[in-house]
Amino acid sequence: MDLRLNEEEIMLRDMARRFMVSEVEPLVPQMQSSGEPPRALLRKLGAQGLLGTFFPEAYGGGGASLIARAVVAEEMARMDAGLDVSVFAHVMLFARAINNLGNEAQKRKYLVPALNGEMIGAMGITEPHGGSDALSPKTTARKVGDHHVLNGSKTFITNAPIADTFVIIARTSGDAGRIDGGTWFILERGAPGLSTGKPFNKLGMRSSPTGEVFMQDVRVPAAQVLGPPERGFHYMMDSLDLERVLEGASTVGIAQACLDEALAYAPQRVVFGKPIASYQLVQEKIAAMAIGIELSRNYMYHLLRRVERGDKVTRDAAILKLYSSQMAVQAASDVVQIMGGAGYMEDNKAARLYRDAKHHEIGAGTSEIMKIIIARDTLRAAAGG
Ligand SMILES: Cc1cc2nc3c(=O)[nH]c(=O)nc-3n(C[C@H](O)[C@H](O)[C@H](O)COP(=O)(O)OP(=O)(O)OC[C@H]3O[C@@H](n4cnc5c(N)ncnc54)[C@H](O)[C@@H]3O)c2cc1C
Repeated sequence: MDLRLNEEEIMLRDMARRFMVSEVEPLVPQMQSSGEPPRALLRKLGAQGLLGTFFPEAYGGGGASLIARAVVAEEMARMDAGLDVSVFAHVMLFARAINNLGNEAQKRKYLVPALNGEMIGAMGITEPHGGSDALSPKTTARKVGDHHVLNGSKTFITNAPIADTFVIIARTSGDAGRIDGGTWFILERGAPGLSTGKPFNKLGMRSSPTGEVFMQDVRVPAAQVLGPPERGFHYMMDSLDLERVLEGASTVGIAQACLDEALAYAPQRVVFGKPIASYQLVQEKIAAMAIGIELSRNYMYHLLRRVERGDKVTRDAAILKLYSSQMAVQAASDVVQIMGGAGYMEDNKAARLYRDAKHHEIGAGTSEIMKIIIARDTLRAAAGG
């Protein structure tokens, strides 16, 4: 019995695990080569309640805990980390922004179809001149009568090539670097002046399409402003904490998949007359994976309960993201090593895990930015701030 999860969360985890094996595993080769998840799969995920988990039931969500989202994401990343990245952007970035900032009409129009998998969403923050400095977008929105006119571009945007709807942050006033003066806009594909680039050819996460969004004199009516004008960067910074905690589910899922592969391979691979699982240098790698997974998963559950209590977890979220993403990269390297030449072959999942894991040291804030946050908040706390 898992004392960290309640009965509902355990049932959801087990259901998600079965779904990944029966519905997702057969599609992995197709998703890896086509570079995107099939729409029919997203609709199935929606119908099974695997997209809506913690969202309000009034909009088609499951009304469950944040841990419910974590157990689903872990199982998804364990099966295909790229699918998990696309669903993460759709659910945690796009749908959550609509849920947290949207008015009733916007939630009916965008949140309901997002949660049932009929519509695909994306969120655009990062720009070509540097994603880490997220308070300095060059994308601007100028008020003209009762419309805004958007100009600029976003890059590395998950789901951009396939999304029906985008939430985009633009500077509406003030200087670069200031937290005031940002506004979110909802843009629908097909809006005059809005276009997307072709999918990037990536190192990993190949089931997830990533691309650019271009805006040239896009006229956005007032009904498409999302949340309080000028306060958009505040939401962006606040929402990053939970994104980083829940990214822990993605990294744990990858590391768990590495451990799964290692445990399947090491006991049956006989070298020098013995299974390699009996060699302590191999055991050391397996122990490191098991330790990293347990620590990350437990820390994540703990932080999710704290977020639900209303605690601010900026420093802890950065610690989890930094630790668990590095842990997943190490686990992926170790499983390739344990499998030797076989691990280097594309036919084995280890090679894909090795390519996929690296993403999590970059997306949603790089490892360097996590270290800066951890040091800043630690020094501040020591100074009594
Ligand atoms: C597959 C993928 C999917 C993504 N999906 C999305 C998405 O859906 N939406 C979105 O908005 N963005 C998305 N991103 C973008 C991602 O958030 C950015 O790549 C990330 O924030 C880093 O920004 P950058 O790539 O511009 O790197 P830069 O900001 O240019 O940083 C380059 C290097 O400099 C380092 N650096 C920067 N500043 C400092 C500093 N002060 N001190 C020390 N080192 C520093 C960084 O750590 C990094 O190593 C995605 C990225 C990838 C790879």
